[in-house]
Amino acid sequence: MKNTIKDYISFISANKTERECVKASAGMAEEKGYKRLEDVTSLKAGDKVYTTIYDKSIILFQIGSEDICRGMNILGAHIDSPRLDLKMKPVYESNGIVYFNTHYYGGIKKYQWVTHPLAMHGVVFRKDGSRIDVVLGEDGDDFTFAISDILPHIAQDQMKKTAAEFIPGEDLDLVAGLNTGDEKDGGKKAVLDILREKYGMEEDDFLSAEIEIVPAGRAKLLGLRGDMVIGYGQDDRVCSFTSLDALLETEGVKRTACCILTDKEEVGSTGATGMNSLMLENIVAEVVERLGGYSDLKVRRCLQNSYMLSSDVNSALDPLNMDLYDAGNSSRLGHGVVFNKYTGSRGKSGASDANPEFIAKLRKCMEDADVGFQMAEMAKVDVGGGGTIAKFAAFYGMQVIDAGVSVLSMHAPFEITSTYDIQSAKDCYKAFLKME
Ligand code: MN
Ligand code: MN
Repeated sequence: MKNTIKDYISFISANKTERECVKASAGMAEEKGYKRLEDVTSLKAGDKVYTTIYDKSIILFQIGSEDICRGMNILGAHIDSPRLDLKMKPVYESNGIVYFNTHYYGGIKKYQWVTHPLAMHGVVFRKDGSRIDVVLGEDGDDFTFAISDILPHIAQDQMKKTAAEFIPGEDLDLVAGLNTGDEKDGGKKAVLDILREKYGMEEDDFLSAEIEIVPAGRAKLLGLRGDMVIGYGQDDRVCSFTSLDALLETEGVKRTACCILTDKEEVGSTGATGMNSLMLENIVAEVVERLGGYSDLKVRRCLQNSYMLSSDVNSALDPLNMDLYDAGNSSRLGHGVVFNKYTGSRGKSGASDANPEFIAKLRKCMEDADVGFQMAEMAKVDVGGGGTIAKFAAFYGMQVIDAGVSVLSMHAPFEITSTYDIQSAKDCYKAFLKME
């Protein structure tokens, strides 16, 4: 197995939340000489810095030899993935079973989340501000969690429902223990006792917690040829990891190189840690200030003159559902990195339409670097679609296009990618960072 693929599988196996991805990315960057932006008072060409936003997004810079006002080459990907979040008051007991109540995040097919092992990853903050890191039910533990489903023998009513109604969101609750005695809420008390002993947390501490329910277990190679990867959260950690890896292997850039790994894409890039915020602008201002001679105009010029790959995944052509795809304009697993001119849905609603001038420049860049690519849309025009962070970057006037890896069963608990495409994306990102 190639090192990139091995490292990628390890990365997505260990890092299943935004916070875990930010921490791991910062660690990898520090190993390559990146310093915290807050610890640096001035910057010059060749300097490498990063900053984090509420520990859920991270932005890295490698300062180029050219004036930053001429623009940066930005790789932007997202590190949040569809999942279930614990509610604020999650623990309850019903008829002898203890449950953790959840509220799903992002676009999921709810029926896919039942009857397989699930783990809890997250943080709890006590009132005194102290923090508890939680990972429960993973391979390293001798227990896990799961959501139950109705046995087929008595499911005739359930089987008549549509898939959207099959498992109500409110019923996506984790089985977490039993009450084998007669004491009311005895099972709940026992579960809370374990959390108190293991983590020193009280039930009320869930009020200030951020705990995500994700599929348990490691990602793996898929298929007899080992030419695919199956694992959780590949949308969009496959582009996040390869973007970061590409930046960390890049030295001596002319245009300042930037890598953004952002939170909240799956819910519309909202909030202080999403791309639809001032986070990029604010941090670029901090960088410009450290380069000397700060002005607002410099920040605007830097952003407007930037090039960006909105590194996000694309729906892979699915041979079992060909009626959904326009085969000639769809991406195939194992055929290389995908450029997507139009994201958005139907009449391109919500799209960031990449300019052909920019696409031509990228074609030349890819050809010179010997990187094969595919040009594709998500599916047939009327069947739906989705947005990415591209439009929030385009807001600044920069040139941006979606560029990423094809994924089969996107947004499922276990998504499928191709090892060839992962390497191809990394090669594409490396070539792009040097594009003039
Ligand atoms: Mn995505
Ligand atoms: Mn997605």
